[in-house]
Amino acid sequence: MTYKHQWQNGTDINLPVGKLVCIGRNYAAHAKELGNAVPDAPMLFLKPATALVPLHQPIHIPQGRGECHHETEICVLIGQTLSGHVTKEQVRQAVVGIGLGLDLTLRDVQQQLKQQGHPWEVAKAFDSAAPMGTFLPADKFTDWHAIEFELLVNGQCRQAGCSADMITSIEVMLEFIAGIFTLQPGDIVMTGTPEGVAALKPNDRLSLSLLSPVQATWECVVADA
Ligand code: ZN
Repeated sequence: MTYKHQWQNGTDINLPVGKLVCIGRNYAAHAKELGNAVPDAPMLFLKPATALVPLHQPIHIPQGRGECHHETEICVLIGQTLSGHVTKEQVRQAVVGIGLGLDLTLRDVQQQLKQQGHPWEVAKAFDSAAPMGTFLPADKFTDWHAIEFELLVNGQCRQAGCSADMITSIEVMLEFIAGIFTLQPGDIVMTGTPEGVAALKPNDRLSLSLLSPVQATWECVVADA
């Protein structure tokens, strides 16, 4: 199924499908669980538009490439161009939607790439590496520092996070990104994952929820191998 940005009520969002800009190690406890140092500056990487798939369709894990981990992340949809030096006010106006998505990561492949000092795209930017939920209007999120969310796998809580625990806040992250990669309407920024990342297994049932300030849940399953 082709990916389109959608609102949570099922209507299409009239924006093109663009790139994803992602941040690594943005929650201290997650950096620690993988034995990584917390970076001095935001650590960015990209996923192409071809990585996007709707979160409600079964997740297909690449076969024969080791563990594929879930990373549950707050995702922000950009509605206006952000480029160069931008203010926090411009950042807030440019975000039209907020939701949840998965930064799927081939962890064993990533480990090898890290050891070799190579880029991570093979582990993180493959087709279908970004199952993306529908979006809620950004104006429902008055405080970007208190967005709480969780991931249940087969009914058990695996990841629970709050944007208050981010090392780089959403506003600062978007300011920083705009100075490097122009953000265009339809781009998505994935804001990092809290601790609890683990391998997905065939037929796992996932439930991603926003808990505060808005409540919403997205359900999906991992396809049979
Ligand atoms: Zn991630």
